[in-house]
Amino acid sequence: MFMLAAAGWVLASLLIVDFISGVLHWAEDTWTAPGGPELLDRWIVRDNIEHHRRPGGIRAGDYWGTNRVCIVLAAAVGGVLALFHVHAWQAYLVVVLASQSNQVHLWAHCSNPPRLVRALQRIGLLQSREQHAEHHRRPYAARFCTMTNYLNPLLDAVAFWRGIEWVLVRCGATVQRATPARGGY
Ligand SMILES: [Zn+2]
Ligand SMILES: [Zn+2]
Repeated sequence: MFMLAAAGWVLASLLIVDFISGVLHWAEDTWTAPGGPELLDRWIVRDNIEHHRRPGGIRAGDYWGTNRVCIVLAAAVGGVLALFHVHAWQAYLVVVLASQSNQVHLWAHCSNPPRLVRALQRIGLLQSREQHAEHHRRPYAARFCTMTNYLNPLLDAVAFWRGIEWVLVRCGATVQRATPARGGY
């Protein structure tokens, strides 16, 4: 019974991280363009555009280069949880999985990932190469989640991202995806 509950929590944690990865990735692709705060440009916007321009380039980096932004952000969130005496292991599992979300993204760009990863990709617990490839098409408006294969079909089918954009555009925001400001990416 404990094993079943633990497996359920692991799956739930993966889906939570899948959703968080989707929200952050959607925000990067949709609302950012170079020329904002230098810190944002340097750590997020330029890498994000470069990844759309040359998707395979993600395989060239080392482990730290690929994962440092996620690890630093996850460590900060983990620190806040500890500060507020959060003891639930599930919260820390979410943080640990989130710290590796770009590694999962990298594997979705590999034709020959580790065997265990390949097996998990086949059942969708980690995102498959095929599903992530659907994101890398202009105008980069679908398949924003990068952790599993489960949430994207659901969110895209109900036009989840389009719905939020519809509201934000009416509040004055500008969709930047594939615009000249992002070099078409
Ligand atoms: Zn993207
Ligand atoms: Zn990608």
